[in-house]
Amino acid sequence: MNTSKNTQVALVTGASRGIGAAIAQRLAADGFAIAVNYASSSQEAEALVAQLQALGTKAIAVKADVANVAEVRAMFEITEQQLGKVDVLINNAGVLKTVPLANTSDALYDQTFDINVRGTFNTLREAAARLNDGGRIVNFSSTTLALNMPGYAIYNATKAAVEAFTHVFAKELRGRNITVNAVAPGPIATSLFLDGKTEEQIQTFAKMPPLQRLGQPDDIAAVVSFLVGADAGWVNGQILRANGGLA
Ligand code: NAP
Repeated sequence: MNTSKNTQVALVTGASRGIGAAIAQRLAADGFAIAVNYASSSQEAEALVAQLQALGTKAIAVKADVANVAEVRAMFEITEQQLGKVDVLINNAGVLKTVPLANTSDALYDQTFDINVRGTFNTLREAAARLNDGGRIVNFSSTTLALNMPGYAIYNATKAAVEAFTHVFAKELRGRNITVNAVAPGPIATSLFLDGKTEEQIQTFAKMPPLQRLGQPDDIAAVVSFLVGADAGWVNGQILRANGGLA
């Protein structure tokens, strides 16, 4: 592990694949030491860490279910011990299953709220005590919240809660010089979006934004890079809808 290069520490939840992995790569390129959180994809997380380390970034993989408060606490402790106190928290971990509200099982409701809402709550509460002053927090909402499409009731409800956390927490951190914002992506070509859709459905989504394509994980990583960088220092309590103009 190269220990010479990075000073500031970024913890990215759900960074084993998809948007989170792209964020980890981008923030590493920006000069952060990176904690790659994952829940079950240990091979992908370890491969990403090896890739970051090979490029000279100080990086670790940390297994933790964000819905589990003890695991979240341990995730921060391991990160502090191995990389130092956290400057940047990216609350990217999330799940989506589209089911009409009437057909949603209790188990799916619980799982979606546990990961998307309680997971964000757990890391925010922990971050309140642990984040360095001057730090940055980026939560993850979704453009689906504005589209009100059938099948998205439970998922959208979780993202509405995340947006509420974002607005209030930005104010509760008054005096710490910590910004709290959220990104609300439109459709991004990851397994969360692609799995279970036909090619026709995917193409329908791809044509929806005026920019006429699906977003890529790097599109969102670039937005996160901006929000945690020096140029976004005056952006606070905002929801940035990065969706090619979809909504
Ligand atoms: P993805 O490709 O399915 O990746 C999800 C990531 O979250 C994986 O690294 C997964 O790790 C992790 N994760 C899932 N449950 C977890 C848990 N309990 N604890 C810790 N990590 C957990 O999803 P994505 O498309 O990159 O989505 C990332 C975020 O963007 C989510 O919040 C999602 O709601 C939001 N978003 C996505 C889109 C889109 O179109 N893709 C659009 C709008 C918003 P394991 O593999 O180890 O479980």
